[in-house]
Amino acid sequence: MSGPVASADVPAEPQRAAPEACVLEITQSREGRVGAIGVRRALPRRGRRTVGPWCFVDHMGPALISAPRGMDVAPHPHIGLQTVTWLLEGEALHRDSLGSEQVIVPGQLNLMTAGWGVAHSEEGTGSYDGNLHGVQLWIAQPSATRDGPAAFEHHSELPHRDLDAAVATVLVGDLDGTTSPARRDTDHLGVDLALRAGVTTVPLRADLEHALVALVGAARLDGQIIEPGHLAYLGTGRTEISLAAREPTRALLVGGVPFDEEVLMWWNFVARTRAEIIEAHRAWIAADDRFGRVDSPLPRIEVGPPPWSF
Ligand code: MN
Repeated sequence: MSGPVASADVPAEPQRAAPEACVLEITQSREGRVGAIGVRRALPRRGRRTVGPWCFVDHMGPALISAPRGMDVAPHPHIGLQTVTWLLEGEALHRDSLGSEQVIVPGQLNLMTAGWGVAHSEEGTGSYDGNLHGVQLWIAQPSATRDGPAAFEHHSELPHRDLDAAVATVLVGDLDGTTSPARRDTDHLGVDLALRAGVTTVPLRADLEHALVALVGAARLDGQIIEPGHLAYLGTGRTEISLAAREPTRALLVGGVPFDEEVLMWWNFVARTRAEIIEAHRAWIAADDRFGRVDSPLPRIEVGPPPWSF
């Protein structure tokens, strides 16, 4: 999915909020649109740019779509990040400049690594009528891999485990010994929690910072209610959380070792300097070899240069 990450989301200046221990900060997501679908953007936000390496969290839909329309996010470029696509309802078609063409349905993971540069589209499958509902997230790549080659992975099955009144599916990383096969360039995790009515204890690592995003229903944590449209930042230092639900509830847990590099984000780029972003934008507009070509019926997305480049 495409950003854009605008200055309203996050100033285009390096800025870091230090991780805090055992807090519970609930913030309201920003409403936006990506393609034809309404989204709630939980990250980035002022004062909290990253949770571990997670730097972008969009909760999209549920939105009713009718064939042949779908997500309809036209080809656009990325650098320096991984995109994570996870659906609760519906289906989508991923195409990228590596030649990947992959349908994704609920329970599966698409993980694209941009590295030095990749382009992709997110399209309808042409045959689906119904709700589209899911999340797309970005993971900032560390300097060790961010200038490396692009890659794409599809995982049709992921490991899951029963907790008290929940099933936890590990998209990325490790939850107390249950480990996803997905590529990981830093020490982080992403877990889907399908809660039934009841109370569930989720084991956490105290050295990671975590956040929870509610996707369906509502969960009570530390006496506060977390609902869709909320990002609940949990800080570091927790060895577990206790989540209570009264009805079937879905939530996404993200976390990681606090990211120790200053991240600069603009449009679909995660970089370190303005010069890197200006050069990536120039390469995309010039349609040179850096980003390659996506075999898509949709026209490529172009935007003007960053405001600080002229
Ligand atoms: Mn994208």
